[in-house]
Amino acid sequence: MRFEYCPKCGRKAALREIGDEGLMPYCEGCERPLFDLFPVCVLCAVTDGEGSFALIRQSYVNAGTFVGVAGYIKSGESAEAAAEREVREETGLTPFSVKLLGTYPYAKKDMLMIGFLVTVRRSEFALSGEVDQAQWFTPEEAVKAVREGSIIQQVLLDAIDFRSNE
Ligand SMILES: [Zn+2]
Repeated sequence: MRFEYCPKCGRKAALREIGDEGLMPYCEGCERPLFDLFPVCVLCAVTDGEGSFALIRQSYVNAGTFVGVAGYIKSGESAEAAAEREVREETGLTPFSVKLLGTYPYAKKDMLMIGFLVTVRRSEFALSGEVDQAQWFTPEEAVKAVREGSIIQQVLLDAIDFRSNE
């Protein structure tokens, strides 16, 4: 999101040349550049460490396909802590390792997704109210269970690649 007004004082943003960034919105009241703002989300490939991946289904998002555990990072929280919290909240499983896979811009929604490989202790799912179903898949099945060309599909492919290089 590009600022038109300063989020702090409400003054209309001017445009100013900011170093290598070129013309950027700038608040002349607060004397600060207003860099673009966009939500940052974590997106998790959840594995049991033995070759299976857990995916979830949320009918309010998409009834047909499975998705990955995802969520927004809270203010003051690290991305790793957010990934661990979201997996715990949505699946009821206990993570014991969180590894960064990469970052994935999601142009359609003007978001940045941070992809993690989250290894959990395999046990019964205890789903949050936002989740209708969770299921374990082989890597090949997992890649096919999500929407073709989706970011979670890329995260799963990167997770499989990451695990085979470990
Ligand atoms: Zn301002």
